[in-house]
Amino acid sequence: MDQEKKCTKCGQKKPSALFSRDSSRVKGFQLHCKACCKAYRERPDIKARNKSLRDKPEAKAKQRSYQQSPVQKARAKARRDRPEAKANMKAYMKAYMARPEVKASAAAYLKLYQITPEAKAKASKAYYLKKQITETL
Ligand SMILES: [Zn+2]
Repeated sequence: MDQEKKCTKCGQKKPSALFSRDSSRVKGFQLHCKACCKAYRERPDIKARNKSLRDKPEAKAKQRSYQQSPVQKARAKARRDRPEAKANMKAYMKAYMARPEVKASAAAYLKLYQITPEAKAKASKAYYLKKQITETL
């Protein structure tokens, strides 16, 4: 998928290859382009902060435990669960599933395990039902 992304820092539109990957984000990329991230990392105050983090393992552990805290986890989940994020994901999955190589591999999988369309529909229904149950827990 090669599309243009707008950097939220410099505001320029750039190909997604110029953005670092970030699997925690819905679109899979960081918000700032690589050039902006580099400029940020090289700021004297940020460099000093990163150095102090490197020098102090307990500071690092503290930062990590903050990111892993229930509040932060809930915030990350809320970000992923926003209606527009869900719509983006749905659109992405639709485009992904429409790719010929993905279609071919899905068809090969169904054939290999001799899965009928009925069995597939049943499994899919069961999956979404289970997902709904676990999400409401
Ligand atoms: Zn930028």
